Amino acid sequence: MTRPPPIVSTVASLRAVIATYRRAQQTVALVPTMGALHAGHLDLVGLARTKADRVVVSIFVNPKQFAPHEDFDRYPRTLEADAAKLASVAVDLIWAPGAAEMYGENFSTRIEMGGPALGLETDFRPHFFGGVATVCCKLFSQVTPDIAIFGEKDYQQLTVLRQMVADLDLPLAIIGAPTTRDADGLALSSRNAYLTPAERVIAPALHRSLVSCAAAIRSGTPHDQASTAAWAAVLDAGFTKVDYVACRDAATLGGPALNRPRRMLAACWLGKTRLIDNIPV
Ligand code: AMP
Repeated sequence: MTRPPPIVSTVASLRAVIATYRRAQQTVALVPTMGALHAGHLDLVGLARTKADRVVVSIFVNPKQFAPHEDFDRYPRTLEADAAKLASVAVDLIWAPGAAEMYGENFSTRIEMGGPALGLETDFRPHFFGGVATVCCKLFSQVTPDIAIFGEKDYQQLTVLRQMVADLDLPLAIIGAPTTRDADGLALSSRNAYLTPAERVIAPALHRSLVSCAAAIRSGTPHDQASTAAWAAVLDAGFTKVDYVACRDAATLGGPALNRPRRMLAACWLGKTRLIDNIPV
C-alpha cells in the first residue's frame, strides 16, 4: 500500500510546505473535512486531483460549529485510519491542526453570514454557519488554495461559502461536488455510523421521499403541497422528527420560482441521529 501522506499540525509547518508548492509554480486544491472519512470524501479528493497539481485535505473537528448540546464530543475521530484512506487517493498533505493551534487563547472573531444562511439549518442550528464560515475563512487563509471543493451533500453550506468568498473577495474558487450515495440512496455521512441496524434500514426513505417530491413538483404539484407529502412520508417510514422539508431557489436558497433551478432540502431525525439530504428538482 502507498505510504500515508505527511500530516502537519502547525500553521508554520503548513506554510513551509505550501511555499515549496508555490516555488514550483504548482496549483493547490483544498478539501476541508472533519475526518471520519468515507467514500464521499474520497470522491471530493478525486475531483480535486483533476483540478490542481497538489491536493491538501484538512481534518479538523471544528468546535465552533457545534452547540453545547450537539455531538462534538462523540463525533468520530479516526486520524490514523483517515490517513490510510487518503494514501489510496494520492493526497499530498494532511492539514490536521489541534483546537489550540486553530483558535488561540484570545480568539475573538466570528463571521456572521446572512443571505443563503438564513432559514433551513439556521432555524435549528443558529450557531452553525458562523462557525463554518469562520473556520473555512481561516483554512483558506492558512492553505491559500486556488480552489476548495465542497460536497453538495451539505448544499446550504456550499451556497453559504460561495457567498462568503464572493462577499469577502477571497482569492479562490469554490467547487461543488455531487453527493455520493450508498446503493439504496442514503447519502454517505460520517454520522451514519451512529445509526442502529434498524435505523439504517429506515434511513434511505429520506432520499426516496425527496425523489418523489421533486418528481411531483416537476409534474405540477405545488411545492408546499409536495413538501408536506414528503414530510409525512419520512415520518411514515419511521423517522422520528422532521426539522424541515423545503423547496428553495437553487442559487439563493430564497423562495422558489418556476422559471429558475430549484432544490429540495431536508433535515430529519432518526432517534438520536440527525440526517440531511437534498436533490435538484
Ligand atoms: P464533513 O467531514 O462531513 O464536514 O464533510 C467534509 C466535506 O465532505 C463537505 O464538503 C461535505 O459536503 C462533503 N461530503 C460529506 N458527505 C458527502 C457525500 N456523501 N458526498 C459528497 N460529499 C460529501
